[in-house]
Amino acid sequence: MIVVCPACLAKNRVPQEQLEANPTCGQCKEALIPLVPIELNEKNFSQFIQNSDLPILIDLWAEWCNPCKMMAPHFQELAQHYPNVVFAKIDTENNPRLSQAFNIRSIPTLVLMNKTTEVARVSGAMRSQQLKQWLDQQLAANTWS
Ligand SMILES: [Zn+2]
Repeated sequence: MIVVCPACLAKNRVPQEQLEANPTCGQCKEALIPLVPIELNEKNFSQFIQNSDLPILIDLWAEWCNPCKMMAPHFQELAQHYPNVVFAKIDTENNPRLSQAFNIRSIPTLVLMNKTTEVARVSGAMRSQQLKQWLDQQLAANTWS
């Protein structure tokens, strides 16, 4: 499957069984699946989501939002346990056009993408256990490339 490098956006072909083996980018040698949330913004968003074969879970947040800050460590912790999902964050203040494209009305909002298609979203802060439950449900309920 194609894994997009979060550092240089190169497309890397990685066999599914290698996802957990900490694969690195053929071009820049950075970790392809860093197991921490990556940052998406108006510059890299389209290219990243179009090319990624992995589900992408996006946390839309802002610096001034306390529930967002409450959820951040839980989101980060979950990322360590899902090498088959890309965890990403979008700062809604710095990326107003993306925020508008997603029609964000409250934050934090989590959006799960399958390539360019939104398959699920949920708003409001959650702790890791809730987050995990929600994500597992969505992953099981949808077909992934
Ligand atoms: Zn790279």
